[in-house]
Amino acid sequence: MNIEAISITRDSSLRQALQRMDEAGKGLLLLVDTQGRFERTITDGDLRRELLGGRDLDVSLETLPAMQSLIIDRKVTRREALALMNTHSIDHLPVVDTNGAAFDLLDRREIDDQILLSTPHMGDTEQAFIAEAFRTNWIAPLGPNVDAFEREVASLVGIGHAAAVSSGTAALHLAMRLLDVGPGDRVFCSTLTFAASVNPVVYQGATPVFIDSEPESWNMSPKALERAFVAAKAEGRLPKAVIVVNLYGQSADIDPIKALCDAHGVPIVEDAAESLGALYKGQPSGSFGLLTIFSFNGNKIITTSGGGMLLSNDGTLIERARFLATQARDPAPHYQHSEIGFNYRLSNVLAGVGRGQLKVLDDRVKARRAVFDQYRDGLSGICEIQWMPEPEWSYSTRWLSACTINPAGPVNSEQLRAHLSDDLIEARPVWKPMHRQPVFSGTDYFMSDNQSVADQLFQNGLCLPSGSNMSANQIERTIASIRTAFRKS
Ligand SMILES: *Cc1c(COP(=O)(O)O)cnc(C)c1O
Repeated sequence: MNIEAISITRDSSLRQALQRMDEAGKGLLLLVDTQGRFERTITDGDLRRELLGGRDLDVSLETLPAMQSLIIDRKVTRREALALMNTHSIDHLPVVDTNGAAFDLLDRREIDDQILLSTPHMGDTEQAFIAEAFRTNWIAPLGPNVDAFEREVASLVGIGHAAAVSSGTAALHLAMRLLDVGPGDRVFCSTLTFAASVNPVVYQGATPVFIDSEPESWNMSPKALERAFVAAKAEGRLPKAVIVVNLYGQSADIDPIKALCDAHGVPIVEDAAESLGALYKGQPSGSFGLLTIFSFNGNKIITTSGGGMLLSNDGTLIERARFLATQARDPAPHYQHSEIGFNYRLSNVLAGVGRGQLKVLDDRVKARRAVFDQYRDGLSGICEIQWMPEPEWSYSTRWLSACTINPAGPVNSEQLRAHLSDDLIEARPVWKPMHRQPVFSGTDYFMSDNQSVADQLFQNGLCLPSGSNMSANQIERTIASIRTAFRKS
């Protein structure tokens, strides 16, 4: 900010003031005394009123009334500055030094830019699919967009059958139901995940058992899984299913996990809510479970605003999922039910959004990976930041750019999160492990070694803003803010 260019003294004429305001293009001048001390702000409205009051253009500003302008005398955070501007209904805030001289001017247009973790990013064709649904009056939870969306996702992932549903959570609930999970049963589940991965286990009255992460991928540790299987076998209580979560756009190390599950005859349910578009050893993430779920919630890599999908190569499972998801109506002309069903199907309107989004999935993956690359390059000098690894078998979408912060460094992950928040940048801690959740206290938990990897990742982990629609300026601002946090402390 060139403060000289917007400063003016009382001996200047109204004409000079108008000219200066025009040149500086800020809509604001700073009136300063002969010693350079800030006196008041002058808006274009102030000058207009002088003109309308009959003041001659060539008369000086000596008689311009004194006025108390809000100033700040220290560096404040972006959040504080915005709050002050809002409270006082102003768009500019001069910053003055101990001598009372302005050295900076905060401008609402530059300050009021909240950077969010992950926001929806529409393509060019979603509206056309919605319009087609309206034109043909297919507004129901079934219709051509639903059918096509199912076919398109199935073919993208290379799975035979798919049922579009109202959320990823609904898809997981159907998966539990299809596998006959019920009271007295146990289901193994990754501990480092969102609660939606495991809640459906409890909906069915079964008990979850949590499995630790491995440091290599942050996903389910085959070693911890093996320990859980050994213990379960000794007790004669094998789990009904293993829910394997693919975190932050990266597949779990499926091969050893699958070998263990196959050896015990236990099916895998892949929670691929966060990994659409990722690859494991060149194969699509989500193509390995007996059942797989995706989520199209608003924060995911592509979205239908809310939605999900259940997939399997076993067509009878998906057919039954459709039946259960539409209130389990028996094939009779009257309303007859022999089972309890759900209302879980996706609307044909929202499936239209999904079809449009699928067309840009590749772009979204590239964009998110590019965001990650810029963080990694822009922050390469800060050795306290360790990025979520991408093993050689993985192609991650980097749905979220996740890292851990060495707690022995100048800021820990929570301090960095708070610093970014003050700068109107949203970062989030890594998922709090399920075995640490009050609602799951007392639940069995298997670590790979004597140390809980998931706990460490939670303690030191941070997810940075990662939206595919972040501007170059927003990415730079985030990098700069992180650099400041490490420098300042
Ligand atoms: C988002 C998410 C879900 C749930 O999906 P919804 O569509 O929001 O119900 C499940 N598991 C994981 C890992 C998720 O990130």
